[in-house]
Amino acid sequence: MKYPVVTLHRGKEESLKRFHPWVFSGAIRSIADNVEEGDTVSVVAADGTPLGTGHYQIGSIAVRILSDKDESIDAGFYRHRLSEALRLRRSLGLIRPDNDAYRLVHGEGDFLPGLIVDVYGRTAVLQAHSPGMHFARQMIAEALVALDGAEIENVYYKSETTLPYKASLDPQNQYIIGGFDSNVALENGLKFHVDWLKGQKTGFFVDQRDNRRLLESFSYGRRVLNMFCYTGGFSVYALRGQATEVHSVDSSAKAVALTEANVKLNFSDDAPHKSFAVDAFKFLADMPQDAYDLVILDPPAFAKHRGAIKNALRGYQRLNAKAMEKMPSGSVLFTFSCSQAISKEQFRLAVFSAAAQTGRRVRILHQLTQPADHPVNIYHPEGEYLKGLILYIE
Ligand code: SAH
Repeated sequence: MKYPVVTLHRGKEESLKRFHPWVFSGAIRSIADNVEEGDTVSVVAADGTPLGTGHYQIGSIAVRILSDKDESIDAGFYRHRLSEALRLRRSLGLIRPDNDAYRLVHGEGDFLPGLIVDVYGRTAVLQAHSPGMHFARQMIAEALVALDGAEIENVYYKSETTLPYKASLDPQNQYIIGGFDSNVALENGLKFHVDWLKGQKTGFFVDQRDNRRLLESFSYGRRVLNMFCYTGGFSVYALRGQATEVHSVDSSAKAVALTEANVKLNFSDDAPHKSFAVDAFKFLADMPQDAYDLVILDPPAFAKHRGAIKNALRGYQRLNAKAMEKMPSGSVLFTFSCSQAISKEQFRLAVFSAAAQTGRRVRILHQLTQPADHPVNIYHPEGEYLKGLILYIE
């Protein structure tokens, strides 16, 4: 074996044979003495059959499998995986003169568990969710700038809030290659300031790209309310789609400022746009009846773990009911949940309950999910997290 060995209990090799990329701690019979958190390990079945190579960590997910072979996880390995990831994004048509914001690596969906990479023009923002990826960060960054066809020059490492606290890795958010460059990224011909230094996650939510485009096609002649606007992504698309009025709401004053800057970047000063730094529930309670005929609800994840599901579902129901009860007949609601712990069915049930509670006649026009640069490994359905519905309200 190439690395210190982790041996599984008898019968516990089945999920790995079906390509599920995680080994749970309960499946492990023994771990070689010298293994430390973040180390690369070789995983073998009880009878010694090699099952793959992965990163070890302390916790319920003990090994994240990087390869189903006994292979070296070195610079060549990362170069290969990253060029495969880039090949997919190129084939999706995401790298064009008018589009340079995309997710290059979506963890398990790109056979790199624990790693997220978002690209904004010449800058890649790298986020580690496992100690193993934290230790590999420099090697990964070097492979990113060497990628043929991506033109990445700067790599910003941003993992202060994504690594297990108990591992005491003390990661610093910083450039690990290059430095600050233009932070204006292009998405479908629209410009966005992306603040990877201080913004949420990697600075921008690329996962709503396709849904924003769909929103644009619903916007003509409509009065639009964009709740939880963050960078104003949906607002900018609605303006391009010739909405007559766009209102953006976020409880964070920084988000509202970012939305205004992004509107300015794309349109003249007289664009029909206003923004409000207010709590969403307060805004919905105070807004007049029938004020908007296209509403977007894209809140932060209400359930960050399984224990919070029940309250989260109540939250989604309450939020959707508040919006639905004020919307005019013939209006359209884009409603989302990005909680990984909540299933499509559970979310749909919460929205159904909101419809029933308000007594509105509601039809589903589209069912939405994450875009193709956030692929879901079919053996790892946990990778699917974004769900949305477009509803016609009568
Ligand atoms: N729709 C955005 C992403 C939304 S992220 C996009 O397309 O990019 C969620 C946003 O909700 C954050 O900006 C956060 O500041 C905001 N937020 C969180 N709680 C809120 C509340 N109670 N009221 C209003 N905004 C809230």
